[in-house]
Amino acid sequence: MKKFYITTPLYYVNDVPHIGHAYTTIAADVVARWRRLNGQPVFFLTGTDEHGSKISDAAAKAGETPQAFVNRVAGEFKKLWVTLNISNDDFIQTTQERHKKVVQAVFEKLKASDDIYKGTYEGWYCVPDETYFSESEIVAGNCPVCGRPLQKLREESYFFRLSKYEQPLLAHYAAHPEFLSPTLRANEIMNFVKSGLKDLSATRTRVSWGIQVPSDPSHVVYVWVDALLNYITAAGYGASAPGMRFDEVWPADIHLVGKEIFRFHTVIWPAMLMALGLPLPRRVFAHGWWTVDGAKMSKSVGNVVDPAKMCAEYGVDAFRYFLLREVPFGADGDFSEKSLLGRYNSELANNLGNLLQRTCTLLVKNFDGSLPPASQSRMLGDASRLLARIEKAYDGLAFGEVLEEIIGLMVKTNQYIDEMAPWKLGPDDKDKLAVILGECAGVLRALAVLLWPFMPTKTEEMWRRLGEAGSVEKDGSLWLNSLKAGRIPDVASEQKVQKGDPLFMRKSGKSQ
Ligand SMILES: [Zn+2]
Repeated sequence: MKKFYITTPLYYVNDVPHIGHAYTTIAADVVARWRRLNGQPVFFLTGTDEHGSKISDAAAKAGETPQAFVNRVAGEFKKLWVTLNISNDDFIQTTQERHKKVVQAVFEKLKASDDIYKGTYEGWYCVPDETYFSESEIVAGNCPVCGRPLQKLREESYFFRLSKYEQPLLAHYAAHPEFLSPTLRANEIMNFVKSGLKDLSATRTRVSWGIQVPSDPSHVVYVWVDALLNYITAAGYGASAPGMRFDEVWPADIHLVGKEIFRFHTVIWPAMLMALGLPLPRRVFAHGWWTVDGAKMSKSVGNVVDPAKMCAEYGVDAFRYFLLREVPFGADGDFSEKSLLGRYNSELANNLGNLLQRTCTLLVKNFDGSLPPASQSRMLGDASRLLARIEKAYDGLAFGEVLEEIIGLMVKTNQYIDEMAPWKLGPDDKDKLAVILGECAGVLRALAVLLWPFMPTKTEEMWRRLGEAGSVEKDGSLWLNSLKAGRIPDVASEQKVQKGDPLFMRKSGKSQ
């Protein structure tokens, strides 16, 4: 069975990780966990992009060697992924030997097939941005990106024959509409390709911190060409990952990217793969950007959201939940701590936490913590249809819709328990109590399974509180399969339900 292969972009190590990095990685993690819960083998890759003179400059400024610098920053990313409970299977760094070998082999292969050729590049060069700009791009003689003056430079360069792939790319987009996702971003790419592709300068002679061209060591490979190849390095291309069979992993099912790098992933990358004769990824999905309280996030404004700080304040699970709940995936969104606090209190503490608390407390009080025999649930009566809707939303990476469905079930069950008012029932109503509480306990287990990809810690806590001996991670698949078939699995556990502390402690608002 082919592994489901999902990637985040390789994050450039000129910056410490922020909410944007966290967002993409959490989204990929939720998809990976959902697939595993469905019994599918998964390969989930993230990592860091570590070459280019921006990096060597930053290293010099920090008084470190480039390699020590990139290892330190990559370490920051790895640390955050542990904090955020990210379940990646591999973490690739583009300075690793396995990757250098692939980049060098690919370069020579494409040179041999004449997809890469030597020429001369002339253009307006921005030194800090390491980028050439054409006459039509420059703004009053200055860099269109940073506004600094440009230099007219000429240098020997190897070029990748991108122009050759104009028609094949357009044909691929037409035959595989899903490749460019979401569709609202597809037109821009198609128009860009239709307007004509120029060959891509694929090496630099002015940059030393990069991967050398073996047959011409005065050239290093352009950082984007280098970085994109990571996706096949980690998948085992050219025996780069021992123990892995490339065709069991490749092609990638989803490359998740931010919208600013969509073009690199949907034009240059597929053209490189075509030149290598490799199948193309099934889908490249671009998500939007975050503003903070309506303003652009920037270091100078001082409004950069630190994911670790948010996790310390609200808990990792609430932060993960909020990012995917707040904004439709694909669109731009606004981060506000006020909104995080609001959803934390209303959806997690009041809705989910209360349902668990009320159910467990009553089970302990009336049944000494033993679960009544599982009854077929009214609330979950249409579980298979609910799951079909959830699956469809996952296929579109519509995390918000997945959560809407789950919240709908929570709300319905809370209404049910309010109407039934089991706390008013006395010892003579044990049978009725058993039905009501059995119903709620069943829904809560289903909720633990369905919410697990978003909140892998709190849902395990729910699982234990409900008297399960195992874990959602191990036993969730079984549950999911039963639910798909419209059944609630029999509860085999001998463990007792526990009252415990609130799952999410209500928080009071900050001043203002
Ligand atoms: Zn510039």
